[in-house]
Amino acid sequence: MATTTSINPYTGKEFKTYKNHSKKEIEDIILKADRRFYSWRETSFTERKKLMMAAASELRKNKQEYAETMTQEMGKPISQAIAEVEKCAWVCEYYAENAEAQLQNETVKTDAYKSYVRYEPLGVVLAVMPWNYPYWQVFRFAAPALMAGNIGVLKHASNVFGSAMNIEKIFKKAGFPDNCFTTLLVGSDAVESIIENEKIKAVTLTGSGPAGSSVASIAGKNIKKTVLELGGSNALVVMKDCDIEKTIDVCVQARYQNTGQSCIAGKRLLVDESIASDFTAKLLQQVRELKSGDPMDEDTYIGTMAREDLAEELEKQVNDSIKSGAKLALGGKRQNAYFEPTVLTNVTKDMAVFNEETFGPVLSVTTFETIEEAIELSNTSRFGLGVSIFTENIDEAEKLAFQFEEGAVFINELVKSDPRLPFGGIKESGYGRELSQHGIKEFMNRKTVYIN
Ligand code: NAP
Repeated sequence: MATTTSINPYTGKEFKTYKNHSKKEIEDIILKADRRFYSWRETSFTERKKLMMAAASELRKNKQEYAETMTQEMGKPISQAIAEVEKCAWVCEYYAENAEAQLQNETVKTDAYKSYVRYEPLGVVLAVMPWNYPYWQVFRFAAPALMAGNIGVLKHASNVFGSAMNIEKIFKKAGFPDNCFTTLLVGSDAVESIIENEKIKAVTLTGSGPAGSSVASIAGKNIKKTVLELGGSNALVVMKDCDIEKTIDVCVQARYQNTGQSCIAGKRLLVDESIASDFTAKLLQQVRELKSGDPMDEDTYIGTMAREDLAEELEKQVNDSIKSGAKLALGGKRQNAYFEPTVLTNVTKDMAVFNEETFGPVLSVTTFETIEEAIELSNTSRFGLGVSIFTENIDEAEKLAFQFEEGAVFINELVKSDPRLPFGGIKESGYGRELSQHGIKEFMNRKTVYIN
């Protein structure tokens, strides 16, 4: 019997061991999910809205409990974990309020007496999800999917099965019918046969490039729609006319929140040469003040990384970059799964911390002399999730926005997800969109109806 154990990365001790679902149990869960689809798709938006609002209330009511599971499983500081649970309530409320209007028929004038597009749910959608925002990544898929009449089956990352079980419980407690949303406790080796199951109609994956590529290949072979939210290496482009104090506040948050383990984190700071020395000195001061500690303490800002092997990987990227000429301005040390908040300066585009994704609290600093150079440095990345530009000349920044090869451009703000705005990338950051009216339409049959 296969089992999966999650280790608390702060204590190094076992958090829990779970019995994996067997092949037979997996098939059974998918079969029941498929059966549920045919009654769920008939429910009214009013009924779905009532249940989704109840899920939001459940999240808010028991946010401490849900947050603690995530903190113990993957080391997220508790105050950030609570904020994540609250954000999940927000996305539930957003889609409860807006799904019906977003999925209205669209009349199209043609030669017909009447022609229009209907949005119809596809059926059971598999969600393969990562550990870094164990609730948020799932809810931003589940809330629109369920409101649209689809069914969700979750394969969560192997270190956050407790959060995965909690999510199933939240929908159950909210009153959703059985099998509307189910968690499969399986490793990544089970994903291929799950995608091949004829009752799975589409797949969404948030995770690394290799996982995305594998899942998309299998889904492609089986002609199933995919949405991929993959890695990122966002640039923070700091112009010489920015408000330095405010920009530093935003850049520090952009890089170090969630202990740096975010796809949309600002990982590469690109700063105008003429202000680089002053800007970096002030930034270092602020990074030095970030409080590391026990993730269960309310005032901890930097927790441990989610797993020790991930911290080792980051350490290698930092050491390789130093060997290639980067200067260690702050931090750089690892202790088990903890990695000090780190800043590397003199970084060039051939270095690992620049051309690979760094998934932890490490900021690389590179200078530029012209805006053309800054755009070129930003676009060199093989990822294209988002970029932040800091300047007082907003008109000019807005004009430049189209030159950045990204899914999002944020001016004087960190790249962040918001239920009201589409979220997703281009290039190796993936394709498709989550959130907003764009996200809810990804797993729908846009049915053309033509009446003469
Ligand atoms: P990961 O190793 O790719 O895992 C993500 C999920 O995919 C897990 O459930 C994992 O299961 C599964 N998986 C891994 N390899 C697979 C394969 N070959 N076939 C099928 N499933 C597979 O990523 P992670 O370490 O959890 O998360 C970090 C990565 O996710 C980073 O690259 C980050 O940038 C990206 N991310 C992107 C976004 C976005 O919105 N664009 C958001 C968050 C994170 P197991 O745990 O069982 O291996």
